Amino acid sequence: MGEAPALTGPDFTRGVELADVPEAGMLLGNAHGEAVLLVRHGGEVFAVAATCTHYGGPLAEGMVSDGEVHCPWHHACFEARTGEAVRPPALNPLRRWNVERRGSLLFVGQPLAPPSRPKAPAPTVESVVIVGAGAAGNAAAEALRREGYAGPVTMIGAEPTVPVDRPNLSKDYLAGTAPEEWVPLRGPDFYSAQGIELLLGARVVGLDPKARRVQLADGSSRSYGALLLATGADPVRLTVPGSDSSLVHYLRSLADSRAIIASAKDAARAVVVGASFIGLEVAAALRTRGLEVHVVAPDARPLERIMGSELGDFIRALHEEHGVHFHLRHTLGAVHDRSVVLDDGTTLAADLVVAGIGVRPATALAEQAGLRVDRGVLVDEYLEASAPGVYAAGDIARWPDPRAGKPIRIEHWVVAERQGQTAARNILGAREPFRVVPFFWSQHYDVPISYTGHAEGWDRVEVAGSVAGRSCVVAFRVGGRIAAVATIYRDQESLRAEALLERGDQAGLEALLASARS
Ligand code: FAD
Repeated sequence: MGEAPALTGPDFTRGVELADVPEAGMLLGNAHGEAVLLVRHGGEVFAVAATCTHYGGPLAEGMVSDGEVHCPWHHACFEARTGEAVRPPALNPLRRWNVERRGSLLFVGQPLAPPSRPKAPAPTVESVVIVGAGAAGNAAAEALRREGYAGPVTMIGAEPTVPVDRPNLSKDYLAGTAPEEWVPLRGPDFYSAQGIELLLGARVVGLDPKARRVQLADGSSRSYGALLLATGADPVRLTVPGSDSSLVHYLRSLADSRAIIASAKDAARAVVVGASFIGLEVAAALRTRGLEVHVVAPDARPLERIMGSELGDFIRALHEEHGVHFHLRHTLGAVHDRSVVLDDGTTLAADLVVAGIGVRPATALAEQAGLRVDRGVLVDEYLEASAPGVYAAGDIARWPDPRAGKPIRIEHWVVAERQGQTAARNILGAREPFRVVPFFWSQHYDVPISYTGHAEGWDRVEVAGSVAGRSCVVAFRVGGRIAAVATIYRDQESLRAEALLERGDQAGLEALLASARS
């Protein structure tokens, strides 16, 4: 989370010239002891808090577009007029204040109440059941209420905890630099106040789409008017001899992260299997805890398949600078008591093994129910699956992406949340196609990487700026077109790339890349 920014700029309670607020832009200042942004849009000026409600990102370093303020860190987006969080990962609105105009001057006055909920629409569904209390499930439940749906909403989650900020489980929380209070997305009171029934530690074991009913592991069942499947993904397990050893950990849930932390307390040496995002974030967190860390992976470079060789080399060098030892082009042969053996016979001492070798979408329920499944639950552009009234969102959903021109499945936090919201609105009859440009971030020590767009493979990677200098824009070309853009410490460009990809503006993307080079 970011620190509260030091107050800078004009004190808006004393008045500021309207001309100082750029049209379709923003001005940072302060009011009533808080950092405040004035945002000008369509002849009006709005005052909102200058700090993102997700991780405290500095909104003044972001972007204003169509009256919306975009956070530079993780691309949350807020409507300036209402302060409403219109795009995750932010879930809470920005505080806002009254703006009064006297002649050419603007004055920020009293705080305004949070926007009132829209009038409840006529119920289109009798009840909504959400299977999976993660990113997509939580975002859907909240969106149903925000849209004014007043019918019963039940969210069923196999984990015993309220929905958690999963990305934190491999980052600051695992490193010991964030307290556990930061991990829940909401307190339990939030759900009761919203009238969202939360069944935790409860697993759905059967789905009957014809009878519109789900079966729980405890023998009970629930009927639904509409169902959202948001069961996420399960870590792929090691299969080498000794894989069932208590040394071996996986990381998906808060319980998993707690277990790694508990093991790390008495450990001196850790082996991370897999040079994936999660594997490398775990390596960074364990180095922060002072463990010796060895990473074993079959790849020639970490993250090369997704990020290309330039970023792969950089990530490797970054981790090596922090003392991580890589054993690339190697696989694990066996896990023994306090050691592992690699395919070439090398033995590495290990008090702790963490495997981050990928995930599989949790599609068992959908398969058993006879829904169309192909490496994910197949949904249409409205995120509806092959049975009426059944939707899917998040890591399990394979949807027709208009830019890729084919169905894709993505494992990103923000995509899962945004899909949850779209599915909720479609459950209420919105018929809103899911056309959002994918976005994810990853953090390695003090270096954040942002990635917007989607390029499963690419013809060419072009680097503008300096990867080693930690200031770069990296474009991934598919068939000559820029399909995705990764950045390090170039947040403005990342936001602009997202907007350009959303509009399909290739000329704009080329101009962005050219200006990043100069
Ligand atoms: P989840 O959030 O996994 O939620 C699914 C829930 O469904 C789980 O709680 C599960 O227990 C429950 N469930 C499954 N089956 C059943 C059942 N039968 N009955 C009841 N409940 C069930 N993405 C990024 O973009 N950036 C990051 O930095 C990042 N970091 C990550 C770090 C970690 C450690 C992990 C594990 C993932 C990270 N991700 C990150 C990926 C991101 O968290 C996922 O893409 C996202 O959580 C997917 O959301 P979801 O709702 O589909 O699934």
